[in-house]
This record gives sequence, structure tokens and C-alpha cells, in this order.
Amino acid sequence: MRILKPTVALKSVTDITPKLLEKLGTDAILLDVDNTLAPPTSHIPYEGVKPWIENIKNNGIDIVICSNNYKKRVKPFSDSVGLDCVAMSLKPFPFGFNRAKRKLKEKPESVLVVGDQIYTDILGANLAGMKSVLLVPRSEEHGFTIYLRRKMEVKIRKKLRILNEGEY
Ligand SMILES: [Mg+2]
Repeated sequence: MRILKPTVALKSVTDITPKLLEKLGTDAILLDVDNTLAPPTSHIPYEGVKPWIENIKNNGIDIVICSNNYKKRVKPFSDSVGLDCVAMSLKPFPFGFNRAKRKLKEKPESVLVVGDQIYTDILGANLAGMKSVLLVPRSEEHGFTIYLRRKMEVKIRKKLRILNEGEY
């Protein structure tokens, strides 16, 4: 189903290069946190995330963190990596993305959504008319709803080709 397909599938957030962003016509990124930048509940980003953020910002791309998690989890993390944030985004519904878009003053087609979940990040991006990058989840997760969403992702993920640098 088209509405569940990301524009690009990559392994890690750090695989997103300025070159790829140029190709996609990206001026701003809406970034997920849990399992994208850091393990769920952890305040320590995955290796390479901090320099990656600096590099992307130095290339003139705006970044706003957009998470479904609570403000008390999202805000301290965003502050620690020097980014603005929208917590309780309610992805895949457009409320959070619209709030972030207003902060950025960008058209939806120049905004790239980056995250690890098809039924929140990618579906939300497609509903909002934004491009998207789906990542491979890196940490173990607990809870029944995430278990169900991951189960529903299996078939779609099987059909996706995960690109490596050099292929874009
Ligand atoms: Mg996530």
C-alpha cells in the first residue's frame, strides 16, 4: 500500500547524508526520538548521532524533534542535543507535524520525516504530504501495542530495499 511506503529506507539515521537531502529537496527534518536517535527512555544518543546532527545543521537544514512520547521524556533529550521539539505529536495524525511545520515555515514537500515506525512516522508523513525515511529499529521494545505494530510492519519491510551509502 502506497500510504505505508517510505520514500527511502536506510539502516541508521547517520546514513542520511547532505547529498541525499539535496536529492530529496529537503529543507527541514522532523526527527523521531525513540529507536531513531536513542534507545527508548534513554537520554544517551546512539553513537554518531550528535556529530550527525551538527553536520546536517551546518548544511543549512533545520531539524525539529517530533515524538509521540511525553514532554518530560522528549524535552530534556531535545535540549541535550540542541534541538527544538514537539512532544505528544499523535503521529500518524497531522497535529504534531503541522505544529512543527509552522515553526519551520516550510512547505510539506520540502520536509522530511525520519523515524523507525511505519504506522506512526511513515503513515503520518504520507498523510501530511511529506517525504520520509524509514530506519531499522535498533533497540528492543516492550509493550503490547508496539508488538502489534511491529508485526504489521513485517510484510512491508520485507519488500523494502535498504539503501547503503553510495546507492544514492
Ligand atoms: Mg520511534
